[in-house]
Amino acid sequence: MIDNNTYSNLFNKQKANQFQIGNTSYKQRIAKLNSLKKALEVTYKQEIREAIFKDFKKPQLETDLTELYPVIDEINFVKQNLKSWLKNQQVDTPLALLGASSYIVNEPKGVCLIISPWNYPINLTFGPLVSAIAAGNTVILKPSEMTPHTSKVMAKIVSELFDENEIALVEGEVEVSQELLKLPFNHIFFTGSPAVGKIVMKAASQHLTSVTLELGGKSPSIIDDSAHLEKAVKKIVYGKFTNAGQTCIAPDYVLLHESLKADFITCFKNEVSSFYSENPEESNSYSRIVNNKHFERLKGGLEDAKSKGSTVEFGGSFNASDGYIQPTLVSNLTEDATLMQEEIFGPILPIKTYKSIEEAITYINSKEKPLALYIFSKKKKAIDYIIQNTRAGSTCVNHNLLQFLNHNLPFGGSNNSGIGKSHGYFGFLEFANQRSVLKQHTIGAVDLLTPPYTNWKQKIVD
Ligand code: NAD
Repeated sequence: MIDNNTYSNLFNKQKANQFQIGNTSYKQRIAKLNSLKKALEVTYKQEIREAIFKDFKKPQLETDLTELYPVIDEINFVKQNLKSWLKNQQVDTPLALLGASSYIVNEPKGVCLIISPWNYPINLTFGPLVSAIAAGNTVILKPSEMTPHTSKVMAKIVSELFDENEIALVEGEVEVSQELLKLPFNHIFFTGSPAVGKIVMKAASQHLTSVTLELGGKSPSIIDDSAHLEKAVKKIVYGKFTNAGQTCIAPDYVLLHESLKADFITCFKNEVSSFYSENPEESNSYSRIVNNKHFERLKGGLEDAKSKGSTVEFGGSFNASDGYIQPTLVSNLTEDATLMQEEIFGPILPIKTYKSIEEAITYINSKEKPLALYIFSKKKKAIDYIIQNTRAGSTCVNHNLLQFLNHNLPFGGSNNSGIGKSHGYFGFLEFANQRSVLKQHTIGAVDLLTPPYTNWKQKIVD
């Protein structure tokens, strides 16, 4: 039973506290980020690893690399740059406003809500939190109900480091998010599916709350006939099977030149064996599917594809008791197959051949704008041509996933794959209102705008 008053009381306490938090100094904000960094790097490191392992058997090193390291790195980046981001930014003032000066203040938005998904629970809850703290906000965090062990550790960290009037973490089912979404937050940062993104945006519209929506979709990988095939396949196998394919920017499917198909399949088999051995089920480098619902969804997707005449080129075995799905390669899919219609979000990789690059581009543009688009090619002209003639949230050339790790790049989607950006300065800006200040000086100001409209004023305008 959800007690709605609990959330509105919490919200009201944070609202009452927002100016105190908003007026914290650069040093105070850095101190908060340092305490979060220490929790991730030292105090709670092992507990986090164990919790994520309990939630979906994620290998320890993968947890370090994809959950802890990106947040710690984000904190380090913010520490290096926050001083300049918080400075008032002086801008030019037109001559017609002679005697005035202008600047922009990055003021905190106020009380913010961060709703996160299960697939990288630490990274996608604490990553945006770093930006929100940097910008001086109070925050309510609502992680996914699907990774309960990790949510518990995060709740412990948050309650130990912060007063709930400033930052609080609320655990619970979808209904908890639904209740929170009724409140008049100043900003909502949501990471999850496009379908729930629409629900969040609709709820936010009731209060004209600004939103950042970090969504998903089908991210294609193009391999052209000039690419170094072995290297391309190695990287795609890495990008696709990290976290067992449960990554928003994983290559969802591969579009490859028709001349490459047979060699691609051979390379794929070799690379999967070299990463995860002949039997990935026994590999301690390979994750599991988060729960039975997603396991059945993926199994159903493969069965649907097979029933429509597709070929399983590699893999295809399952173990429901452990949430294990073998790295799987499928070809000859029909367009109506679920695997070609919906984001796969699991370790099944469809390949689709093309004759000309225009054909590949037309195919991509017939779908929603992807969160990421990957290009494997040695030809600069071809790379530029693909970038210019498609639309996507981000692109990585001759690799995948790595664009997420450069804090100088905005991370996010476009339309169906997202609204707004995260990381570094771009993440900070999502949680800040760029407030314009024009200051008319009391001495030396010339007021050209007010009547009487004399000849000399007309001459200046002319
Ligand atoms: P989801 O949309 O089902 O859930 C995300 C969050 O929303 C969870 O905390 C959940 O409790 C909450 N939620 C679910 N239904 C809700 C509802 N009806 N009302 C209010 N809140 C609700 O997503 P998921 O399954 O947790 O994550 C997978 C999706 O997230 C994929 O589409 C993936 O591509 C996307 N994703 C995007 C990014 C990114 O950075 N762009 C990162 C990771 C995952």
